[in-house]
Amino acid sequence: MLYALCAIFTIVEIVLATRNRKKVEEIRRIFEGLTGFVFRTLDDFPSCPEVDEDADTFEGNAIKKAITVACSTGMPSIADDSGLEVYALNNAPGVMSARYAGPDGGDGANNDKLLESMKHFTDDRRGARFVCCIAFALPDGNVRTFTGFSEGTIGLQMLGRSGFGYDPLFYPRGHTKTFAEMPPEEKDSLSHRKRALEQLKAYLETSVS
Ligand code: IMP
Repeated sequence: MLYALCAIFTIVEIVLATRNRKKVEEIRRIFEGLTGFVFRTLDDFPSCPEVDEDADTFEGNAIKKAITVACSTGMPSIADDSGLEVYALNNAPGVMSARYAGPDGGDGANNDKLLESMKHFTDDRRGARFVCCIAFALPDGNVRTFTGFSEGTIGLQMLGRSGFGYDPLFYPRGHTKTFAEMPPEEKDSLSHRKRALEQLKAYLETSVS
């Protein structure tokens, strides 16, 4: 199906199904150099319905978002669902990462809650990973998913001002700076989102060859 689209049109428009500007910037940086595609955002489709992220897996939420946007816009769509899993918290916050401290909490409150939940945890119980599942959907409902991980540990205090979410608390494995202390390119090179997007990028490259 994608191959047929590309054969007819030289450029394929794809809608990035997110309103998070930081994510859009990160996706655009990673897809730089990929020819044959133009990426649009939900800002171009204000009437696109909001999606309730009520699935209990990252994959379930990503698929739901990508199919809703592809069907509503009539264009292929890329959606992601991502979050942080802390092993000693039974993988919480997990799919609740964005709303860990409540629906109106925000990044600051989420980080405070995580620090509080882990205040008695020694180093050996601070292991965690970011997970990102990307879904690529076509307007006919066909969908593929790609998952990336970034392993690391949770620090004792927030450090750094870059990025978003739990970046000030997350030390990627083998590094002494948090994601929030790294320049964007350095975080990209280690990020779960990059690892999932690289798989999608390879798939898109083979689809237009
Ligand atoms: P969603 O994928 O937009 O539902 O967001 C999931 C939540 O996971 C975000 O609001 C952040 O709290 C967290 N998260 C996902 N990816 C990252 C990341 O790269 N850095 C920091 N936090 C992240």
